[in-house]
Amino acid sequence: MINLELPQKLEATRTLLRQFSRDGLRPLSRKYDLAEQKEMPEELYELAKLLRARPDRGSGAQPAGGDGGNRNGNNLGMVVSSAELCWGDVGLFLALPSIGLGNAAVSAVASEEQKAEWGELFAAMAITEPAAGSDSAAIRTTAVLEGDEWVLNGEKIFVTDGYRSKQVVVWASLDPSLGKAAIKSFLVPKGTPGMTVTRVEHKLGIRASDTAQIVLDNCRVPRANLLGNPEIAATAEARRKAFGGVMQTFDNTRPMVAAQAVGLARAALDLTEELLAGQGIELDFTKSYHQMSAVENDLYDMEAEYETARLLVLKAAWMADNRQPNSKNASMSKAKAGRMGNQVALKCVEICGQLGYSKAQLLEKFARDSKIIDIYEGTQQIQQLIVARQVLGKSSSELK
Ligand SMILES: Cc1cc2nc3c(=O)[nH]c(=O)nc-3n(C[C@H](O)[C@H](O)[C@H](O)COP(=O)(O)OP(=O)(O)OC[C@H]3O[C@@H](n4cnc5c(N)ncnc54)[C@H](O)[C@@H]3O)c2cc1C
Repeated sequence: MINLELPQKLEATRTLLRQFSRDGLRPLSRKYDLAEQKEMPEELYELAKLLRARPDRGSGAQPAGGDGGNRNGNNLGMVVSSAELCWGDVGLFLALPSIGLGNAAVSAVASEEQKAEWGELFAAMAITEPAAGSDSAAIRTTAVLEGDEWVLNGEKIFVTDGYRSKQVVVWASLDPSLGKAAIKSFLVPKGTPGMTVTRVEHKLGIRASDTAQIVLDNCRVPRANLLGNPEIAATAEARRKAFGGVMQTFDNTRPMVAAQAVGLARAALDLTEELLAGQGIELDFTKSYHQMSAVENDLYDMEAEYETARLLVLKAAWMADNRQPNSKNASMSKAKAGRMGNQVALKCVEICGQLGYSKAQLLEKFARDSKIIDIYEGTQQIQQLIVARQVLGKSSSELK
C-alpha cells in the first residue's frame, strides 16, 4: 500500500527543526550574508549544541521489520532535517559545525576508536580540482603508501567548509595509470602538516558558509585513514565496479543536497505568500482555473513543482534506507530539486517586485543561494546524463 505521509516521528522532528530554523537561523541570515567570511557565525556553535541535545534525535531511524521490512532510516531523517534547516538558511545550515558533506563518508566506514581519535566530526568533502569538476574521475591528486603512512599531493578547490571544518575527506588516486578504479578517499584531520588552506572564495550566495582552496604538499596520514577498501580491483570488470565504491557516497549525499533546494523553495513560497498578504492580496486556492488571477496561477504551478521535487527526494532517500539501488533516483531528485529551487526562488522575486529585489527582505538572498544547489554535488546537466545512461542502459563511455 502506498503511503506518502511522513512517519509520525519524523513529523515531530520537522516541527522542532522548523522552530529552530525560525528562531535560531533566520535572525542571523542577513548578518552573515553581509559579513561573508569576515565574521565566523559564532552563534552556530551554541545552536549546534541545541541541535545535538534535541529530544527527538535519532528518531528518524526505525528498525527493519513490522511493515513488511519497510525501514525509515538515517537517509530519510537526514533529508527531512536538511530541508527544514534550509528553510531557515542554506548558508548557515552548511556552516553548522557537525554537518559536513564528508560526515556521511566517514560515518559509513570509521570504527568507534577512529571516531574517538578524530574527535567531533565536522568533515568537508574535497573532490573538485582545477582540471576535474564534473568529471570527478579525472582527479590528479595522488596518494602513495610509504611505510605505514599515505603521502598525499595535489590541489583541491571549492571545498565547502574547507576552512572551518575539523577534518577533510580528500579524494586521491593510488595509481593514476589505473584510471578511476584507483580513486580512494582519505580522512585528513585539520592541522596535519602538509595540508594548507590557501584561499577562501567570495561568492554569489551561501555566503555564511566558507568555500576553500586546499593544497596538499607531502601531507602524511596514517594508513588507517584510507576510508573503505584499500585494494585496487584486479580485473577490468571489477575495476569498473570498484569506482562505484567511492561514487556510492553520491547515492546518499545527492538526495540530501536536493533536500536543501526543497527547504529553500518552501521558504521562498512561504515568504511570498506572507508578503502578498501584507499587500492585501489574499490567495484563494479554491477558485476554478477560469477565475484565477495570474499570480495564483503562478503559485499553483510552483506548488506543484515543489511537491514533485519533494516526493522525488523522499523516495531516493527511502530507497537508500531500504538498500535499494537508487543512483537513478538520487540523480533524478537532485536534477529536479536543483532546477525547481532556482526557478521558484527567482519567480518569487519577480512576483513580489520591489520587495522581492530589495535587501529589506530575504527573497533576493534565497534567489542567490538557490543556484549553487543546482551546481554542487553534480550539476543538473550531469544528473540528467546519469539518468539518461540508466534509462537507456548505456555506460559512461557510451554516453558522455
Ligand atoms: C560554492 C561551491 C561549493 C562547492 N563545494 C564543493 C565541495 O564541498 N566539494 C567538492 O569537491 N566540490 C565542490 N564544489 C565544486 C562543484 O561540485 C563543481 O563546481 C561542479 O561539480 C561542476 O564542476 P566545474 O565547476 O568544474 O564545471 P565543469 O565541469 O567545467 O562544467 C561547466 C558546465 O558544463 C556542463 N557540463 C560538463 N560536462 C558536461 C557533459 N558531459 N554534458 C553536459 N553538460 C556538461 C556542466 O553542467 C556545467 O554547466 C563547489 C562549487 C561551488 C561553486
